[in-house]
Amino acid sequence: MLNIDLHCHSSISDGVLTPAQLVERAAGRGVEILALTDHDDIAGLAEARRIAEAKSITFINGVEISVSWRGRTLHIVGLNIDPDYAPLAEGLTQVREGRAQRARNIAAELEKIGIRGSLEGAYTYVGIRSLIGRTHFARFLVEQGYAKDVKSVFKKYLIKGKPGYTPHEWASLSDAIDWICGSGGQAVIAHPGRYNLGKNVLSDLLDEFALLGGSGIEVVTSSHTPEQIRYFGQHACSRNLLASCGSDFHAPEESYFDLGQLPEFPAGCTPVWQQWKSTANAEPVV
Ligand code: AMP
Ligand code: MN
Ligand code: MN
Ligand code: MN
Repeated sequence: MLNIDLHCHSSISDGVLTPAQLVERAAGRGVEILALTDHDDIAGLAEARRIAEAKSITFINGVEISVSWRGRTLHIVGLNIDPDYAPLAEGLTQVREGRAQRARNIAAELEKIGIRGSLEGAYTYVGIRSLIGRTHFARFLVEQGYAKDVKSVFKKYLIKGKPGYTPHEWASLSDAIDWICGSGGQAVIAHPGRYNLGKNVLSDLLDEFALLGGSGIEVVTSSHTPEQIRYFGQHACSRNLLASCGSDFHAPEESYFDLGQLPEFPAGCTPVWQQWKSTANAEPVV
């Protein structure tokens, strides 16, 4: 079976490795098909593709778009997108524009509980300034000793209901899917288990997503438990949605799964790559 990883981050967004370092690590770990899916930015794709070609890895242009849907934040992965498709590039520019103001808001909230200098501190962890996000704040707060690791910072300070959380309006679901599909790509709901959706809301989301042209859901991801892998596998199967898989790797010390280190799909899933030309020899995963 091929080693396929369709979700990971470089220092263009909130990963720590440059696109080149990331692909080198993937190659060293036996990944054969890799998608780079930075948050709201496609600036790393060209460099990643160059290294992937040199290492004989099949490279997939990807992105992970931040979306607001019914007051929640969802992430939609785009696979096989065309980075030169203007509406996609322009849409992503718009999504990024909100991040600087949100970062100021987060810093102001943290200031209220006595944490000073977090804006400047977070920026020292940023690769591209327009991509500042919560992970950069988290790394700074770990450095300052506010928590032992990034995960704990999120729990204590940065998720909904915690002092450093500020609501934010991202792209609409329909825009994100239009940008991805319009560029010839496939839209995939990233880590659905992370959104804590009740049965009915999940059902609404999957209905709406499919109606808007979405193709698949991430069944295998480091944020899913084995039960969630089975659960979302069943949903993909029963709704004729394709199944995707990805480590969501960010950094060697921060990620549950390293690049290419993924469990298999549950039986019955149709992989998102089944119709890809470049993987014509992929064995069907059952
Ligand atoms: P942002 O787009 O700036 O809101 O940041 C979202 C990113 O924060 C995600 O892609 C993850 O990398 C990270 N993140 C979100 N929730 C958590 C969590 N509970 N623990 C660790 N990292 C998280
Ligand atoms: Mn991230
Ligand atoms: Mn995500
Ligand atoms: Mn991700």
